[in-house]
Amino acid sequence: MAVRRKRKRYRGRRLRPQFILFCAVMAALLCGGALLVRRAPVFRHNATPVQSGDPATGDLSAIPAGYVTAEGDIHSGSLILVSNDHPYTFPADVELVTTLEQNISGYMARDYTVKQEKTAFAAFDSLLRAFAAATGREDVNISSAYRSYDEQQAVYAASAAENGQDHADSYVTQPGCSEHHTGLAVDLTRYDVRTGHSYDFTGEGEYGWIHTHGPEYGIVMRYAADKEAITGIAEESWHLRYVGVPHAAYMAEHNLCLEEYIDLLRSYPVSNPLRYKGCRIYFCPEGQLWVPEEENYTLSGNNVDGFIVTVS
Ligand SMILES: [Zn+2]
Repeated sequence: MAVRRKRKRYRGRRLRPQFILFCAVMAALLCGGALLVRRAPVFRHNATPVQSGDPATGDLSAIPAGYVTAEGDIHSGSLILVSNDHPYTFPADVELVTTLEQNISGYMARDYTVKQEKTAFAAFDSLLRAFAAATGREDVNISSAYRSYDEQQAVYAASAAENGQDHADSYVTQPGCSEHHTGLAVDLTRYDVRTGHSYDFTGEGEYGWIHTHGPEYGIVMRYAADKEAITGIAEESWHLRYVGVPHAAYMAEHNLCLEEYIDLLRSYPVSNPLRYKGCRIYFCPEGQLWVPEEENYTLSGNNVDGFIVTVS
């Protein structure tokens, strides 16, 4: 039998003691090195290893092994919920980029006042380039993105003056409560370079590609018609929001607006994460933030009562 012949050949070989010793030393060195690499923790938010006891409850039983406590800001990150009920906390250090100073192609931006949060810019840039490549249409224009408090006040006042208070309340959030303050949202129009005319972005026809494929880039249409009772804002096919991958895909797949998604995640604690597209997603209440010690993760506040950790 083949197996027996194989055994015989091995039995016939004799390993010299020096060689065996050399192998043992090399194996010990390699294993030690691997342990050192594996033990290097990925700390991004002043994480400190926990020795004993949960600082919040004193109970560690629900926390899986390999997690450490960390600190973070619940008012920042790509998943923050900003609305009239949850005003934005203006941070000192959001990294904004001026859209027209980037090497953009296949779409336009209104002027040099259009700024976006850095990560969101990269996602919108990829999405709009892909749309132009897929359809040959290059007339999509970012008409507005980041807005300061004063700029939002001006937008709100202009809308109320032009269309009345009710219209302004249906379509424009109060100053301090707009997603545009975050730099994570953009408004689109279509701009005809030959005539100089702007048109509303309705997402109809080929432009629906942007709504359909946005989630692959971490981008959702934030205010859908069937969610008006929850968001408090009428349908805005032109207003897109970056929430990150894989969250946008989950929201689209399950037809959830950001308010609903934030709510849903509260039922997934660190001990029972939502598993989706190879990621583990879970919620930590403010003051009880747990992050994995040896895996990559991203962290976002929800701007309400805690954090969302995404382990990839
Ligand atoms: Zn908008």
